[in-house]
Amino acid sequence: ISSVELTTALIERIEQYDGEIGAFITVDKDLALDQAKKADQDIADNKTAPLTGVPIALKDLLCTRGMKTTCASKILDNFVPQYDGTVVSKLKENGAVIIGKTNLDEFAMGSSTENSACKITRNPWNTSCVPGGSSGGSAAAVAARFCCAALGTDTGGSIRQPASHCGVVGLKPTYGRVSRFGLVSYASSLDQIGPITKDVRDAAILLNVISGNDTMDSTSAKVDVPDFTTALDQFEKGALKGMTAGIPKEYLSVEGIDPDVEKVFNDAKKSLQDLGVEIKEISLPHTDYVVAAYYIIAPCEASSNLARFDGVKYGFRDKSCDDLIDMYKKTKSKGFGPEVQRRIIIGTYALSAGYYDAYYGRASKVRTLIMEDFSKAFETCDFILSPVAPAPAFKIGEKIDDPLTMYLTDIFTLSANMAGIPGISVPAGYSSKGLPIGIQMMAKRFDEMSLLRAGYGFE
Ligand code: GLN
Repeated sequence: ISSVELTTALIERIEQYDGEIGAFITVDKDLALDQAKKADQDIADNKTAPLTGVPIALKDLLCTRGMKTTCASKILDNFVPQYDGTVVSKLKENGAVIIGKTNLDEFAMGSSTENSACKITRNPWNTSCVPGGSSGGSAAAVAARFCCAALGTDTGGSIRQPASHCGVVGLKPTYGRVSRFGLVSYASSLDQIGPITKDVRDAAILLNVISGNDTMDSTSAKVDVPDFTTALDQFEKGALKGMTAGIPKEYLSVEGIDPDVEKVFNDAKKSLQDLGVEIKEISLPHTDYVVAAYYIIAPCEASSNLARFDGVKYGFRDKSCDDLIDMYKKTKSKGFGPEVQRRIIIGTYALSAGYYDAYYGRASKVRTLIMEDFSKAFETCDFILSPVAPAPAFKIGEKIDDPLTMYLTDIFTLSANMAGIPGISVPAGYSSKGLPIGIQMMAKRFDEMSLLRAGYGFE
């Protein structure tokens, strides 16, 4: 099949079904077909790269030259970047066809993709349920076979949790593994870009392409990038002898874990044992403080990052204003949705004079303790095994009026961001209602290889 045929077929599929799913904000058929034609020519000329002709979707938080980048916010609803983010350039250099930009919670703040100013995305497995979030559009697009793979971003679980809810693979790389240049910042010390794919090997292929140091992002790490795909191919599928998995005892006593999630988790543990993995109990003593510390740090960084959307340089501006201050007020009140405003207010409050030490300072200290918990745990295991979310995908509208309950569902995914370590979500089973449920594996910094190996062996 040629890339033009494949791209055309996927776009037809999107036209037919995305009205119901709502995975995409933008699909540029002409642009995609131009790239597909070029890919076919490259194939004819024998000039192929790992992604030549492969249609890939991008979370609409990644800057794409000449293509609208909205962050699912009214404040950027007409923003067309003049440059590609580093990951986008790398995809293009490797032959990918950018098929479209996917829906998300506004500025990646949320866990259900309901906080989008554009539309709601529905879970392809059950359209009355959320796809998870914030990369819900990317996960739904992969699950609905609208694209071959997608990129998402993960600040506190936004790749892994929607992947779990949609029955696909989601990988959050180590902080610094992938350049964030051209990613609209939410919480800069936590954000990472990563693949959402149909299987683990595809995640390895994409990770190979997007990883590496970048002079445009000073937080991108100067570390070698292993050839993940080649390394993975050397492992025999299903043979995980010699690997040790740790299960945090604190995770098992988290309140409100759904029995279906518990069952899938226990079955996964058993399968891993059958594949030769040694299972150990470990301890992450500061688990109780993870949600509280994250929901200080992330909004603080967000309030600072989002100050740039003031109606002056780009994006939406409210023109009914009397003076500059009035313009700022009206632009931000109308341009940002309720969840984004909530986070800006929390973050600004917590960072204000006299409160910094009590909130951000303390949360940062807790973060150090969380990192130390993980360093200690990895002395005795290759990866940590856990659920991804306490329950399968919930009904649209069920939690949207209760932000705190929504925040609490992030309990298992936030730590990887706080500690800067990689995490993967791999499909593991189904709930009694037929919704997919994933399991999470986390490894040491820059040890994505262990996650890929374990995930590949397990899937
Ligand atoms: N649900 C978390 C939040 O709202 C994480 C989101 C993300 O990873 N972008 O902050």
